[in-house]
Amino acid sequence: MSFDVIVIGAGAAGLMCAAQAGYRGRRVLVIDMGKKVGRKILISGGGRCNFTNENASPNNYLCHNPHFVKSCLSRYTQQDFIELVERHGLAYHHKTLGQLFCDNSAQDIVDILMTECEWAGVEVQLRTELLSVDKTTQGYTLTTSGGEFQCHSLVVASGGLTMPKLGATPVGYKIAEQFGLQVYPTTAALVPLTLHDHDKARFESLSGVSIDSIVTSESGVQFRENILFTHRGISGPAILQISSFWQAGQAVAINLLPEKNVAELIATWKVQSPQKSLKNALSGLLPKRFVEILGEQQQLPDKALNQLLHAEIESVAKTLHQWQLKPNGTEGYRTAEVTLGGVDVDELSSKTFEAKKAQGLYFIGEVTDVTGWLGGYNFQYAWSSGWCCGQYC
Ligand SMILES: Cc1cc2nc3c(=O)[nH]c(=O)nc-3n(C[C@H](O)[C@H](O)[C@H](O)COP(=O)(O)OP(=O)(O)OC[C@H]3O[C@@H](n4cnc5c(N)ncnc54)[C@H](O)[C@@H]3O)c2cc1C
Repeated sequence: MSFDVIVIGAGAAGLMCAAQAGYRGRRVLVIDMGKKVGRKILISGGGRCNFTNENASPNNYLCHNPHFVKSCLSRYTQQDFIELVERHGLAYHHKTLGQLFCDNSAQDIVDILMTECEWAGVEVQLRTELLSVDKTTQGYTLTTSGGEFQCHSLVVASGGLTMPKLGATPVGYKIAEQFGLQVYPTTAALVPLTLHDHDKARFESLSGVSIDSIVTSESGVQFRENILFTHRGISGPAILQISSFWQAGQAVAINLLPEKNVAELIATWKVQSPQKSLKNALSGLLPKRFVEILGEQQQLPDKALNQLLHAEIESVAKTLHQWQLKPNGTEGYRTAEVTLGGVDVDELSSKTFEAKKAQGLYFIGEVTDVTGWLGGYNFQYAWSSGWCCGQYC
């Protein structure tokens, strides 16, 4: 069967692109190996899909060419997507830091995209895995588990490698390489960090405890949100954010009391309740068990406040404002939200997303070397890249 456009992947970017191309009168087929469309949308944001961020800007993305996203984010903005969902009557709410979530369920976002695809006359074929692609004089021939298809324009929206159980495959990277495009090495990002056995044993009993912190990478990038202790290591939004900037062998510095000046606090406590132990005083600000563990590790002196020497106060302040933790790895693609790396965007037109070396071949969404921060930025890039490509493919 022959189509004007075939889109590989019925995810966020693929469905947005397909609807736009369909509205232009193109005959569009979307294929996906899954049983359902939009499977990542459905599990996103704890089932409520953090579908965009009011503050999305190019600064919220990691990419070897940081200028690339400027064009698509300005042509299809978060406000454009908000207008789309409002037209469909989506009930949504604002959370912290500009994040927008569905009131009911992420299914509402999938329903909106599928309604758009239906109105635009897009065909969707599920349980169909792309196996290989060949260039023809007319366009492309696709060999899939559901037979052979031809198209003039081939849009690769096959996503990254996270959550392999949801059908992530490297097919997009392979197609890029087949047509001579550079692909940057991929790694898991927005992912919990794991700890060495000795640290894991120390902090295991804190599993489930969270602390509002500022986490800083060795490269100096900072995020202010919660950290969360887990059975395997450390997670929470601040850690997921920093994981995109963390490299093997590096430490992260955690300011456990960002609003406070620990040295000044101790000086005040010394006057108010000199006999009180340092640990008791700190337990009013931090989880008690965490303070105990720092004490067991000799990171906090076991003394009354009035016995603390100046150097000890300085050292306590350093421990709590610049607590050093050296992860031994990440939980990997199994639990990561996104894939860092991918198809080099310098190989693509920032206007159309067409490969400069292969006419009629397009790459959008997470398969490209664009990774957003946590907070709705990844979906916004999927919508923006999908919408822009849909105007040209
Ligand atoms: C648990 C989790 C929660 C997340 N929460 C959020 C959030 O709240 N907000 C946010 O902005 N981002 C979130 N993300 C990230 C976001 O889901 C992705 O960035 C986004 O889905 C990428 O969209 P995409 O269309 O590029 O790829 P995908 O949504 O991954 O879609 C790719 C599709 O291609 C199909 N496919 C792959 N290979 C083949 C093949 N060989 N043949 C046929 N089909 C194939 C796959 O089945 C898949 O359906 C989350 C991710 C995860 C894993």
